[in-house]
Amino acid sequence: MSNIEIAVAKGDGIGPEIMDAVLGIFKAAKVPLAYHTIEMGKAFYDKGFSTGMSPEAKETVERLGILFKGPMETPKGKGVKSINVTARKVWSTYANRRHFRTLQGVDTIYSKAGIPIDLTIVRENIEDTYGGIEHMLTNDVALCRRFITRTGSLQVCRFAFEMARREGFKKVACGHKANIMKLTDGLFLECFYEVAKDYPEIQAYDVIVDDLCMKLTTRPNEFQVVVLPNLQGDIVSDLCAGLVGGLGFAPSANIGDNISIFEAVHGTAPDIAGKNIANPTSLLLSGVMMLRHLGLYSYAETISNALFYTLEQGEHTGDFGDKLIPSSSTSEFAEIIIGNL
Ligand code: NAD
Repeated sequence: MSNIEIAVAKGDGIGPEIMDAVLGIFKAAKVPLAYHTIEMGKAFYDKGFSTGMSPEAKETVERLGILFKGPMETPKGKGVKSINVTARKVWSTYANRRHFRTLQGVDTIYSKAGIPIDLTIVRENIEDTYGGIEHMLTNDVALCRRFITRTGSLQVCRFAFEMARREGFKKVACGHKANIMKLTDGLFLECFYEVAKDYPEIQAYDVIVDDLCMKLTTRPNEFQVVVLPNLQGDIVSDLCAGLVGGLGFAPSANIGDNISIFEAVHGTAPDIAGKNIANPTSLLLSGVMMLRHLGLYSYAETISNALFYTLEQGEHTGDFGDKLIPSSSTSEFAEIIIGNL
């Protein structure tokens, strides 16, 4: 089997440390991938590339169709766009899929109470308020524009239902605020039910987003798949990361028709960058999602089993959330996973 070529951007802050750890695990598992490291991130923004990537980097991603990336720092200053948000928009990765599940060895109030969590959030990824179209109406009044389109809503809802059908989920919920934002969220909700008609075997229902947050924290095991507009999906997915132990344990895939981006959900963690203590789990799980996306199922299983076994054995890096006491550095943690492959 010849190696599948993918683009890799190590990112900023803790990005290179966690990416090296993950690629080391992939190498030990003999994953048949060939990596093209591209010029993308804050350093390239500083060199004058306004999108945070060189033209060669853009061409490589567009040729290969898959980008595996570490977190990237958002340049500071008014009017400056996030490199991550720009990449999602430039390549129309319209669906952001995040999987949250109970991991043995990662204690949370739910795991201690015997409440298993296994839910997927599908967030619309390129519309809503993320255009950053804001202006001051007067010195004291700021206005932000919100775009929700029929095309964008239909395609992300269809992605959620297709995923549910393919992977055997029985129900899909739509989170929204259509009771207040009747036109924008109303359109999203209308599209959700329009798409749902094509999937009669799947229960489709909707929950107002504030009620959804309450239900997710009290009965998270009642949900399987939830699809939401961009901003609400962003907030709800971090809430769900908290349910399973923090941002370090949640993988993320940005899926488009031609290009998909796989990345950790957390940021560059500047406070711990360069110390070899960051948790590579989120990036590793995102890498596992990428392997499944590429059809490399057996490698995905081998690596995720080794990771889960490692966590079950009580091994972990210094982490956030419930502030575990560090037992392994990033590179040591990766070596233990390699030993468990
Ligand atoms: P952050 O996620 O980088 O950090 C929040 C807290 O979590 C910090 O205390 C950090 O030390 C900790 N943390 C994050 N990842 C960790 C890991 N793997 N292991 C252990 N601890 C970890 O959020 P922030 O500080 O708000 O953002 C920093 C930068 O990252 C900003 O420039 C932001 O724009 C960017 N960012 C990028 C992405 C992305 O690339 N997709 C996502 C979010 C934030």
